[in-house]
This record gives sequence, C-alpha cells and structure tokens, in this order.
Amino acid sequence: MPESLPVKSTAGLAAGVEILPNYIGGRWVAARAQEHLDVHNPALGEVIARTPLSGREDVEAAVAAAQRAFPAWSETPAVVRARAMFKLKALLEDSFEELSRLVTTEHGKTIDEARGSVRRAIECVEVACGAPSLMMGSGLENIASGIDCTVFRQPVGVSAAIAPFNFPAMVPLWFLPFAVVTGNTFVLKPSEQVPLSQRRIVELLEKCDLPPGVVNLVNGGRAVVEALCEHPGIRAVSFVGSTPVARTVYQMATHTGKRVQALGGAKNFIVVLPDANLDHAMAAILESFYGCAGERCLAGSVLVPVGSVHAEARDRLVEAARAMPVGNGLEPGVRMGPVISDRHRQRVLGYIEKGVAEGARLVLDGRQARVPDRGFFIGPSVFDVVSADMTIGREEIFGPVASISPVKSLEEAIDLMRAHPNANATSIFTTSGKAAREFSHRASASMVGVNIGVAAPMAYFPFGGAKDSFFGDLKVHGRDAFEFYTDKKVTISRWY
Ligand code: NAD
Repeated sequence: MPESLPVKSTAGLAAGVEILPNYIGGRWVAARAQEHLDVHNPALGEVIARTPLSGREDVEAAVAAAQRAFPAWSETPAVVRARAMFKLKALLEDSFEELSRLVTTEHGKTIDEARGSVRRAIECVEVACGAPSLMMGSGLENIASGIDCTVFRQPVGVSAAIAPFNFPAMVPLWFLPFAVVTGNTFVLKPSEQVPLSQRRIVELLEKCDLPPGVVNLVNGGRAVVEALCEHPGIRAVSFVGSTPVARTVYQMATHTGKRVQALGGAKNFIVVLPDANLDHAMAAILESFYGCAGERCLAGSVLVPVGSVHAEARDRLVEAARAMPVGNGLEPGVRMGPVISDRHRQRVLGYIEKGVAEGARLVLDGRQARVPDRGFFIGPSVFDVVSADMTIGREEIFGPVASISPVKSLEEAIDLMRAHPNANATSIFTTSGKAAREFSHRASASMVGVNIGVAAPMAYFPFGGAKDSFFGDLKVHGRDAFEFYTDKKVTISRWY
C-alpha cells in the first residue's frame, strides 16, 4: 500500500503558488478542501502548484453535473460526439510540444519520453474518432419467420477514471475519449502528484463544443477515490495504480454495482536466451529498465539471462547503465530524469539497502552516480544473483534498479515469471522462433514483447495485465473500451 503523502493546511498560505481548481459543470471552481499537497518539479525540487484534497461534497457536485449532462449527451449522434474528438485531436497536435514539456516538468521523464507518451495519448483520441463505426451493434433478420433482432450499444451513464502519477497525460486519455465519444459523461481524478497536464487537457476540451458537465475534474487523493467508488450515481470506474489500491478500488466499486477495470502494479521479467543478438537486445533492455527512471508499469524489473549469456548480458547492462547521462529531462542529451518525489527516492534507496542486506550483489550502485544536487535524482543500479525470495526480487521497486536472476533453461525462466503474483508485461530476446512462440504462449503476463523491451499500449489493441496486475474483465483501449463504456440493448420485433 502506498505510504501517505505529506498533507499541508491551506489556511494562511502565502500567495504565489496556485492551488488548483476543480472543473465542474463547465466551470473552474475552488475545491472545498482545507488541505493540500505540494506538486513538485522533480528535476529542481521546487513546488510548482498545490493539489487541493477535495472531499465528498466536491465529488457530489461533479457527479450531479455529469448526471445533468447525461440525457442530452447520450442522445447526441455518435458522429457529432466524434467531431468533438476530432477537435481535441487537432488541439492536442497544436499543443504537442507544450504538453510534452508540461509532462516533463511535473513528472521528470525526459522530453523524448514525454513526447512518446503524448503521442500514445493522441492515438487514443484518434481511435475514439471512429466511434460511429466502432459503436455499431449487430442484428439478424428472421430469427423466426418475420421476426428480427437488433443489438444497439448504449452508453452506461456517468463514468469515472482515477489516474496514477507516472503518465500524467497518457493514462487519462486511455479512458476519457472512449467514455465521452460513446455518450457517457465523465469525472476524472488526476494523480495528486501530477495534476497539471490533466488541467491543460481539460482546458483544451473546453474548446471542443462539449456541453457543460460532460467532462468534470476533481483534484485530490484517497477521499475522492472512495467517494467515486461509493457514489450510486456512477456506473463505471476505470483505475490505474498500484496493486493494493487497484484491488481495493475493484472491491469498493463492484460492491456498489459498478463495472470496473482496475489496472495494478507489475514485476516484469525480461528473458535473454544465449542465441539473442545482444547488439540489438541490450539497447532495448537498457530502455526497458531505465526509461522513465523505471517508473513504468511495463518497465523491465528482473533480467533473466539463460545459461551462458549471463556474464555478457550483465556486464553490458552495467556498462551501458553507468554511461547514461542523468539530469533534468528538458536538457538535451539527458537519458534519464529524476524519480517523482523525495519520498519515492527514499523508498528506492531503501530497496537498494535491502538488496545489499539480503545478499544480492550490487554490481552498479546508483547512489554513487553523478547526478545534479537539486531534485530527486538517483542513478541506475544493477543487482546480480537476485533470488525470488529477496525483497528486490519480489516487490515492485518502480525506480531505476535492475535485478538479475540467472537461470539454466527457458523452462526455469517461465517458471520464475509464472510464480510471481503480478503478470503485467514480459519480454524475450532470442533468434529462435520456436522459443519465442513457446514463451509467448506460456507467459503469465498479458503483454508480451519478442525482441521488444516494452510491449507498449497501442490505442487500437486491448491493454492490461493479468493476475494481480489487473482486476476486471474488459481491458482498456480499442474494441474493449467500446465494450466497457456501452451496454447492449437487444430488441426483438415482429410487425403485423
Ligand atoms: P497509487 O496506487 O499510489 O495511486 C493511484 C491513484 O490512486 C492515485 O490517483 C491516488 O490518488 C489514488 N490512491 C492512492 N492511495 C489510495 C488509497 N489508499 N485509496 C484510494 N485511492 C488511493 O499509484 P501511483 O504511485 O500513482 O502509480 C504507480 C503504480 O501504478 C505502480 O504500481 C505502477 O505499476 C502502476 N501502474 C500500472 C499501470 C498498468 O497499466 N497496469 C500503468 C501505470 C501505472
């Protein structure tokens, strides 16, 4: 369970750093909160905004606005709703660079990583533009003589999405475009650590001819999540975050009769066979473990070299990781930015200490890396001979720390992955089609990379993990998103 963030009182605050408003019923309004959390630029350690810790009343107001907007929006032709998404797509393209810089400023990832995430976000809007086709139902004449059957998809109602800190622009757009284009109205709760990109996206949505109340945004933390999950007016909840919270959200929201998709944490195994082309593989592996400073649900976490490739894979990883320039992600040439907060940095440092204490070999120590003195930096680390029962072999670190667990065979590598309760993503590096096929077929994780380090979410394919990495039925994106946000109305007709 995530530790609690340092809450501060809003009373008597000096002017200067903005306390962010909520967006309810088409207006920016102050939250009724008495407390807030500081939002930092993690590369500089500076406070750049304040997230109000909204409460039940703010959620009530947002849901009421969404409920008022629902009847007219759900009756709006899909083709008209899609036009709003075409506008959003154009505005996102115009704001691409600005939004990417905002993602880097509030999250810390490099500007290229931020651009990649904004591109993935825009692709979700592009797929949503296909709603008039993708929302179609089905039908059959003469199910009995003179009797026809049709199926129409109808929006489910007010939907909510709760986002994590690691993809400030992308994760909210995994949901918002699909929910809105199918005729639902929407309440978004950004991560309290990165609320600025989502505020900007809502500002762009204000120019997309959406009636007031179709999209609402409530800033805050746990209290907002609980109020959303319990609210009887909400019909569907999408969540992305750590496994303990995903599980709780799934239980709370299904308990009150909602449909839920809750994407949780990860521990991703990256397998390298002796026949792999290491010249290609090592660049992808480096990116998988240290891209976004390891703060990706698809990040490589445990490198599993099979047999004779162990020493070379380890040494090449160490050499490449040691050479990575770490710094402010807005500066040219920087390959890895800071982690999200000082609290998270301490947590990652704690894992390094545990790894050493439990007997893993620290072959690259990120604590010794040259990093800027301000900001929440930590260099890349590599542990060798990590076993599954060590804390670092078991828990999601969500930072730039690679564990290496050498095994003797592909069979052993697959067993190692399958024994872990998380099953989000995995990859294999090999030149053997047979081995790749076997691995992909038997992997417990739902997202599999073959000679790919990060099996990234694609807007037109389903995305989401298995076991403790996913709670629900329908995954996110593509056709699954249209399923999740619609109900099927079956009409059987006979005319005399
Ligand atoms: P988190 O679980 O701490 O927070 C996620 C959201 O839940 C936030 O909006 C937060 O306000 C809220 N929240 C936090 N604690 C809560 C509680 N006790 N009760 C109710 N709500 C609570 O996750 P995070 O640190 O923001 O994000 C990192 C985690 O997200 C990692 O575990 C990562 O693997 C996971 N993640 C998963 C995917 C995926 O696709 N499976 C994608 C991105 C991130």
